[in-house]
Amino acid sequence: MRIDVLTLFPEMFDGVFGSSILGKARERGIVELSTLNFREFSTNKHHTVDDTPYGGGGGMVLKPEPIFGAVEHVLERAGGEGGKPARVILMCPQGETFTQRKAEELARESHLVFICGHYEGYDERIREFLVTDELSIGDYVLTGGELPSMAVIDAVVRLLPGVLGNENSALADSFQDGLLEYPHYTRPPEFRGWAVPDVLLSGNHAEIAKWRRRQSLERTFVRRPDLLERAELTAAERKWLEEKRAELEFE
Ligand code: SAM
Repeated sequence: MRIDVLTLFPEMFDGVFGSSILGKARERGIVELSTLNFREFSTNKHHTVDDTPYGGGGGMVLKPEPIFGAVEHVLERAGGEGGKPARVILMCPQGETFTQRKAEELARESHLVFICGHYEGYDERIREFLVTDELSIGDYVLTGGELPSMAVIDAVVRLLPGVLGNENSALADSFQDGLLEYPHYTRPPEFRGWAVPDVLLSGNHAEIAKWRRRQSLERTFVRRPDLLERAELTAAERKWLEEKRAELEFE
């Protein structure tokens, strides 16, 4: 996979792209991560990338020319390699909320281009005529699209085959099957009087799997009941859930 990030602050990505799992994925050639400062594509002599909004009001607006120029440059560069057309992703609080499902969808692509905004926002023509997706990482406003794009890139790259040492660790993650993950324990078996649940020490893998599934279900029911509507549940699990809901209503 190739990932191009268009940003006014490429240095912000040095640590994130060079360390830990992303750094290793890059070293192993699983992903090619590049940044490009779209200021280089400014068409005026002062290299400005923003201007005041038509119609007045506060804040500066990112101009279309530098961003169109930078996107067209990275698409052309990758075009020589053939393959699927790129997804051009605009980071903005008004976009579709990023989820694990979206991470899975993007992990099937071969070229992603991220546009990181700043200031008040983008000239609307960028949204209308250049991008394929608009993504938000949640209902809050950050100063720029760099941190949001890092969050999305991290979530996508860890799903690429060969990136995580143990492939199963991504499969059991929260949200992967629509539920939150079950609780984890490690040594010692007893810490300050708090014991690890017996079943986890039993060596009975069928019982452990059953316990984990039930814990996952209960945890999701308590913390994120909204997820249960779309989760893949067996008939027995749906019945258990109905009973739990009825118990609560009764209380
Ligand atoms: N005025 C804009 C609005 O109300 O939608 C907010 C602009 S924000 C200060 C500047 C940039 O930060 C955005 O263009 C976007 O790239 C990024 N950004 C801020 N919050 C974000 C979020 N929750 N998700 C994704 N990107 C975000």
